[in-house]
Amino acid sequence: MEKEINNNYKSRLTAEQYSVTQEKATEAPFSGLYWNEKDTGTYDCICCDEPLFDSTTKYNSGTGWPSFWQPIDDDSIKTESDKSLGMERVEVLCNKCGAHLGHLFLDGPEPTGMRYCINSASLSLAKNSGA
Ligand code: FE
Repeated sequence: MEKEINNNYKSRLTAEQYSVTQEKATEAPFSGLYWNEKDTGTYDCICCDEPLFDSTTKYNSGTGWPSFWQPIDDDSIKTESDKSLGMERVEVLCNKCGAHLGHLFLDGPEPTGMRYCINSASLSLAKNSGA
């Protein structure tokens, strides 16, 4: 069953979207669609369309990746310890489908102090209509 879903992703995602969400790759900074995106709307999971982040919590972190200080809902994402690359980081995943999204750091702005550092390749912006 798992395999069927992954094969489906391979056919409908770009190579970069697949390597980021399914193989935990990281897109190059300042290369993605959304690091400098200013339009308002909802950032959905590229794999399963689950709403993950709202543009009202997006901020310019200067890192070259879209950054948010809060997910839409605590249940929309899940976190896991990631000890790859000789570092200990907190991985952020879609809670619904398990897609890799990025990492969570504790140097974000108020009111949460969180920085959800997310790959553009994991996201699809559903822009607010009438904007
Ligand atoms: Fe998902």
